[in-house]
Amino acid sequence: MSVASPAPVVAASAPATSTTPPPRTWAFINRRTGRPQSVVCLDGCTINHSREQGREVFPEDVWCWTWAEPMTLPVNENGIPEEMAVLSTVIKVEPFSPTISQRLPYAVVELVEDQFIENLDPDGYETLIRTLSDRLDQMRETHRRLVEVRAAYMGRSASAV
Ligand SMILES: [Zn+2]
Repeated sequence: MSVASPAPVVAASAPATSTTPPPRTWAFINRRTGRPQSVVCLDGCTINHSREQGREVFPEDVWCWTWAEPMTLPVNENGIPEEMAVLSTVIKVEPFSPTISQRLPYAVVELVEDQFIENLDPDGYETLIRTLSDRLDQMRETHRRLVEVRAAYMGRSASAV
């Protein structure tokens, strides 16, 4: 064993944990059993849980999530463009979900307002990012063609006069 190897320079007393407040813990009454059940919130959970705390609820109706900053685009659905949230990702967990995979934090992506892709584990979310990234590459290519086609079109219209 080498005694000479220097001790790893790990900031043992770094104030890393001081920036993240401890996860919230609260309890509700399990509507099936009548017994209190405690919940440890997801880090960064933005739900205040006041409608569930201390009340009778079904465990599967309990979830935590954390919202991303919304980004909106004018989407035309009914003839009038309307600002809609586009490509928002929520990190959600349903600790008592009958769907086992939902008991671990997963991503929910809102493509356009109220149109969601649910249950994305890290691999699934990565696949979605890659798909959208490929789509953006295609859009850049289409943009290039648009500029060309438009210039050609305008050139033809001008020479047709
Ligand atoms: Zn929560």
